[in-house]
Amino acid sequence: MSATALPTVTAFAPGRVNLIGEHTDYNGGQCLPFAIPLATTATLTLRDDGILRATSDQAEPWTGRLDDVTSRQVTGWASYVAGVVWALDAVAPLAGGLDVQVTSTIPLGGGLSSSAALECSIAIALEALLGQTPDADGRSRIAEACRRAETEYVGAPTGGVDQLASMLGAEEHAVHIDFDDPRTPATTLVPLPLTADGLAILVTDTGARHALVEDDSGYARRRAECDAAAATLGVPTLSRAAFADLASIADPVHRRRTRHVVTENARVVETVDALKVQDWGRLGALLTASHESLRDDFEVSCAELDVAVEAALQAGARGARMTGGGFGGCTIALVHAGEADAVRAAIDTAYRGSGWPAPRHHLVQPSAGARVVARS
Ligand code: ADP
Ligand code: MG
Repeated sequence: MSATALPTVTAFAPGRVNLIGEHTDYNGGQCLPFAIPLATTATLTLRDDGILRATSDQAEPWTGRLDDVTSRQVTGWASYVAGVVWALDAVAPLAGGLDVQVTSTIPLGGGLSSSAALECSIAIALEALLGQTPDADGRSRIAEACRRAETEYVGAPTGGVDQLASMLGAEEHAVHIDFDDPRTPATTLVPLPLTADGLAILVTDTGARHALVEDDSGYARRRAECDAAAATLGVPTLSRAAFADLASIADPVHRRRTRHVVTENARVVETVDALKVQDWGRLGALLTASHESLRDDFEVSCAELDVAVEAALQAGARGARMTGGGFGGCTIALVHAGEADAVRAAIDTAYRGSGWPAPRHHLVQPSAGARVVARS
């Protein structure tokens, strides 16, 4: 058989932002991410020479043998590809080899989850190449395989929010995820019809990456503080704590961390209620309250995030918050589409005034999840 006759599948998987519910996933809590229009497209073609070749418009090509997946010889960004092949048990079925071509509109390492989009686009294309068309349960299973690929193969621990948002996201919907049982998170689609009322989410990538350059352990330290606070209270996770328990935590740092987790979970519940009646004013207030909690109680914000949030609110945004792990990364602002340019300009002006590089903005709506777009 000639190489051109071998089957090809192209699949698409989106990035995500988290509307609300930050630093709750690993505390057995709830969050509400949605898929964004920025996405990764992967074209997978079977080969007949045992080679694994991965090319990307955003990175250096990698070529080796499919066997390298099992012996863990795959390096660099291609380890995400190999991790997905490994996690889906696809090494044997793909024995002839695989060609992977990737392109993406998601900035790499910018907090919009290019890694999950990469994994999910490859996974869903791979399943299609192997003759599978996943239903809703199958999509959750693929998300879990992608989480394992990143955590156990690439070695970058992730809680699975990004992969679930990319696999389960839908237009005009957020994905409610409850990690009460962390092994099998419960997911529900929640309508988020922003366009109906002329609203949109302005995502601002601050460009700041303090977690990477200054304080690589910030995330690990927060997790350890949360575990210590849960142990003090005798609960399996902080999400099982109640507001009334705060008084019994002597350590002021642990008390603040607990207060964030408890109030943030409550805000997710309130957000879901507000969305049922499309109470956008309430949604905006909850977003801003989430930011204040992350800034003051969880202490994962930074000047760039605070300035972007403050400037957005001053310019008329309904609500704004940092999104993602913190110490840099992105903010989101709930804006009327007609006011988006003014909010964007206000943030730019504030950044110029602080002497920081111009941030990058994306005006987004909750968008479709991963899917096959072509096959031949
Ligand atoms: P984020 O998921 O927030 O964008 P991560 O650090 O989790 O940031 O993932 C970024 C990494 O994922 C990149 O450094 C690269 O290894 C890999 N990656 C993601 N998208 C691509 C792509 N389109 N091409 C090549 N590598 C990619
Ligand atoms: Mg990532």
